[in-house]
Amino acid sequence: MLPLHGAPDMLPRPPATVPPMFRAAVLACLCALPAQHAAAQAPAPAATPAPAADPAFARCLSTLRQDAAGKGVSAASFDRFTAGLAPDRSVLALLDAQPEFTTPIWDYLAALVDDERVADGRARLAEHADLLARIEARYGVDPATVVAVWGVESDYGRIFGKRPLLVSLATLSCEGRRQPFFRGEFITTLRLLQAGDIRAEGLTGSWAGAFGHTQFMPSTYERIAVDFDGDGRRDLVGNIPDALASTANYLKQSGWRTGQPWGFEVRVPQGFDTALAGRTSRRPLSDWAARGVRRLDGSALAGGGLAAETRSALLLPAGPRGPAFVVFRNYDAIYSYNAAESYALAIAFLAERLRGGSVPQAEWPTDDPGLSRAQRRELQTLLLARGHDIGEVDGMVGTATRRAIQAEQQKLGLQPADGRAGMRILEALRR
Ligand code: CA
Repeated sequence: MLPLHGAPDMLPRPPATVPPMFRAAVLACLCALPAQHAAAQAPAPAATPAPAADPAFARCLSTLRQDAAGKGVSAASFDRFTAGLAPDRSVLALLDAQPEFTTPIWDYLAALVDDERVADGRARLAEHADLLARIEARYGVDPATVVAVWGVESDYGRIFGKRPLLVSLATLSCEGRRQPFFRGEFITTLRLLQAGDIRAEGLTGSWAGAFGHTQFMPSTYERIAVDFDGDGRRDLVGNIPDALASTANYLKQSGWRTGQPWGFEVRVPQGFDTALAGRTSRRPLSDWAARGVRRLDGSALAGGGLAAETRSALLLPAGPRGPAFVVFRNYDAIYSYNAAESYALAIAFLAERLRGGSVPQAEWPTDDPGLSRAQRRELQTLLLARGHDIGEVDGMVGTATRRAIQAEQQKLGLQPADGRAGMRILEALRR
């Protein structure tokens, strides 16, 4: 259901967070939240203590030690940061996870852009107004966009991922199908530790190694992070100025154009050729206009600082009967942050709401709308009251919650019994 565009050739930079080759697997195991966070929120089994001998892992670590030495990590640093390191093989299952349930885009967006996240974001905008103004002056990225990325990536610093970072990266460096990639990320993390940018104590992240306020992968961190508060460390875990400035720097490096919008909502005419839609299909605004595309209020696409020849793509994220958007270069910059349409739209929509707007105006093509996090918590409370063992009420719809929903759907004769957390099952359980 999730319309992913698998054309990273348009991206000026690799995604900051979840590497594209894991996107499918990552999205697979998640139902409601940005992939890397929800994965990270799954109860992370504590790293099992190393069996008295795990000779294969020990051999692998010694090859990593050699490798790291050639890449700027001293033997002393390596030994210090990897002392007692044992593999956590549960990350290998996540690397290859297949989707058990599908999630429509309106479900992602209902949870990622809900009233709570908007209210929290407005509070952050006010609290950090001076900082955000200085960041805008330096990098040319507006406060609402920076705060929206922060809100979607880590819920404004609340959710960093619970898995010990070096444990996950070392395991993925030594086993599984993407070892060369993860060896690079592991060694990069050691360099960041050695440089003193981050501290080893309590360093956690997503199963795939994204971490901190902005959920950068280590290689993105090393390339993009900035020391904005001038204390000599680039600290995206413990320092909000560094984290938000690094987010703006990421967008700037990804081709952000100061003052341009990410895009806006449009109407497409009856019979519009939907084959023209898609992020990588670029046309001048005048071309879309000639095909009958208009702003929601019926006015012309160009104008207000946008030239008729501005290149833009047309998105129909839920098909021809759902909301439609034209998007510009800045949408690509956001997309590169976490290369999935649903996340890029979540960031764009959240930014729009933080500015006082509301998007989309058109309805999603469903009679069973998605739920906010507050509504998800209510649904989970109702499921618990009916005796389903779904763990704690956290607003995150994982496999246990979906199985419980499915059971209730079957009991109530609701079709389809697909385990989806939507308004229909919530209303049925309220009765
Ligand atoms: Ca700093």
